[in-house]
Amino acid sequence: MKKVKIKLVILGGIKYDINIPGLREWSSDFFQIDNNIEIINALPNSLTEENEKYIYTDAQLKSIIGERSNVDLTVAIINQELEKNYYERSIGNNCYVLSLYETGKIVLENNFKVFHFVIQELYYFAAVYYRSKGKIPVSDDGLTHHDIRRCLFDFNDDKNDIAYSLGRASVCNSCAAEFDRTFVPEGFVHNIEKELKRIKKGMFFRIRDFIRNKPIISLVIAIVLAFLINIASNAVYDWIKSSISTKSANVLGYLSHY
Ligand SMILES: [Zn+2]
Repeated sequence: MKKVKIKLVILGGIKYDINIPGLREWSSDFFQIDNNIEIINALPNSLTEENEKYIYTDAQLKSIIGERSNVDLTVAIINQELEKNYYERSIGNNCYVLSLYETGKIVLENNFKVFHFVIQELYYFAAVYYRSKGKIPVSDDGLTHHDIRRCLFDFNDDKNDIAYSLGRASVCNSCAAEFDRTFVPEGFVHNIEKELKRIKKGMFFRIRDFIRNKPIISLVIAIVLAFLINIASNAVYDWIKSSISTKSANVLGYLSHY
């Protein structure tokens, strides 16, 4: 299967750490990020004001980003608000814009890194590419469902729902059935779900979540661990004590000889 070649474009200042080296190095059987990540530093001001807020419309973003050749998909990341306050927009020419407006904060509040969110969205964009056989529709609303199923294709009308599937996303049965088996290989959905499992919180937060979700099991594990540590420390103590006694006896024996 051909990997989706993705060009990343950073639009203006991003206040979150998106770990650009980590994005470059992320290995996937589904997509490959072009090594040359483009940064547009001087982003033109927004031309549209809505409810006393400046937003970037699809049309303006299209003119800022332009077209990229030699890639299958362009993904631009921006800190500002998009049309309809969506967090991602398909703006034509196989180009997605991903906004960290509000989403960055939600992700951090749920103990993930913004990098994790970007990676999971790249899987979604790549999945749309495969589902639409390489021609991403200008509106991808028809590919998503409004109820939340921890599926890559959850619409997430409430941005807070991103946290519901982040790090636990899969592809639900009805979305899985939408992939054309002549376009994607056998095991496509299974393999993409396997890669999605690599998106994980840090160890500290995973342990904390486990303790919160399974307090009784955590208590039993803590008691067993304390018991085992006690046995091990007693064994170490006895071994040190017997070593010292043997060495002392040897020294005394040596001295009495003289
Ligand atoms: Zn689904």
